[in-house]
Amino acid sequence: TEPRTLSVLGATGSVGASTLDLVRRQSGAWRIVALTAHSNAIELARLAHEFSAEIAVVADEARLPELREALAGTGVEAAGGPAALVEAAARGADVTVAAIVGCAGLAPTMAAIEQGGVIALANKEALVSAGEVMTAAVARHGATLLPVDSEHNAIFQCLQGNDAQHVHWITLTASGGPFRDWSWEQLTAATPAQAIKHPNWDMGAKISVDSATMFNKGLELIEAHHLFPVGLDRLRIIVHPQSIVHSMVEYRDGSTLAQLGPSDMRVPIASALAWPQRMDTPCEPLDLAAIGELTFRSTDEERFPATRLAREAAQEGGGIPAVLNAANEVAVAAFLDGQISFTRIAAQVEHVLNAYVPPPPGCLSDVLAVDSEARARARQLMETA
Ligand code: NDP
Ligand code: MG
Repeated sequence: TEPRTLSVLGATGSVGASTLDLVRRQSGAWRIVALTAHSNAIELARLAHEFSAEIAVVADEARLPELREALAGTGVEAAGGPAALVEAAARGADVTVAAIVGCAGLAPTMAAIEQGGVIALANKEALVSAGEVMTAAVARHGATLLPVDSEHNAIFQCLQGNDAQHVHWITLTASGGPFRDWSWEQLTAATPAQAIKHPNWDMGAKISVDSATMFNKGLELIEAHHLFPVGLDRLRIIVHPQSIVHSMVEYRDGSTLAQLGPSDMRVPIASALAWPQRMDTPCEPLDLAAIGELTFRSTDEERFPATRLAREAAQEGGGIPAVLNAANEVAVAAFLDGQISFTRIAAQVEHVLNAYVPPPPGCLSDVLAVDSEARARARQLMETA
């Protein structure tokens, strides 16, 4: 059979690396179109050469000379800047893995959607910000949006062959992050190094902080609301420290379907790459006897207000989730930079949400305008605080 074509947006990141690890093991099954990064030109060039990509793109145009030099004589095209990133995504591929972090991934992901292929979506911030603007584009262009986020991939699998009308609850599991059992006093003093050390998953810095604040689960609640045809009132969150049950769907007849697996992103990525078939991965099957216990408890929105803020934002809809996402991105960057304390992240997001109510966005450029205005307000707030 002909190889399928694949582009990886955010190839140098954690999800990008897991994706390419699977592709490497299936050589011959894939032909790589575009690989992209933000600034890591050297690693990008190495990957683009290894996988004989058509084109490699750095979003940071200042890194283009470095990328060009590293790719000289390899036959791989080199390009730089945000417009080149969108053009590369618009070359179209049978499958595009959207694995850029943050709203920065929105425009290239939309460009890939417009080509109508399969979009394996890790970049939850793009869907949270664009909401119906993205889901409408998916429908209009006949694209297929497959969730890579482990919870959503689990739910997607549990919904197959079932009627969404019979869903009673969709329950997202949350590890609770590294500060699950910390007191408020401890949380106020939490450092970036402590926040990015996740107990179960090895991930990029931004999502690790989101996991510690529970904004990750908040973003995932909004993500689930757009991906699955059930109301917000049917979506709930439960803390499950072992991260073995990746999420569940509870049907009205009393059956609960869950997807279980190791805490390894190659499992949901493989599910999306192979869908509707399956493929082999090097991941060890679960040894449940060794794991021994799976435990569950409710979330604590006093210590972790993020899920409440996200639920409220999803209820309001329109441009509000984009404001929440942008304010969170600015706050996380400031926390990682040592400018604000851990507990200020949620406080600052709430402040921006209260101060800025944008009109509902109708297209991509409206979403990007809301995103940039919310960022400006968040930065301004930090300067005056
Ligand atoms: P990483 O930080 O590890 O990687 C991010 C990737 O995006 C890198 O390739 C980076 O390039 C690129 N990038 C960063 N900023 C920009 C920008 N402004 N413009 C263009 N490209 C950019 O992130 P993760 O792989 O951890 O996460 C990626 C996405 O997947 C996130 O949305 C995250 O929430 C989601 N996700 C991740 C999971 C995980 O296990 N890691 C699990 C579930 C979802 P460079 O290397 O040059 O900086
Ligand atoms: Mg997740």
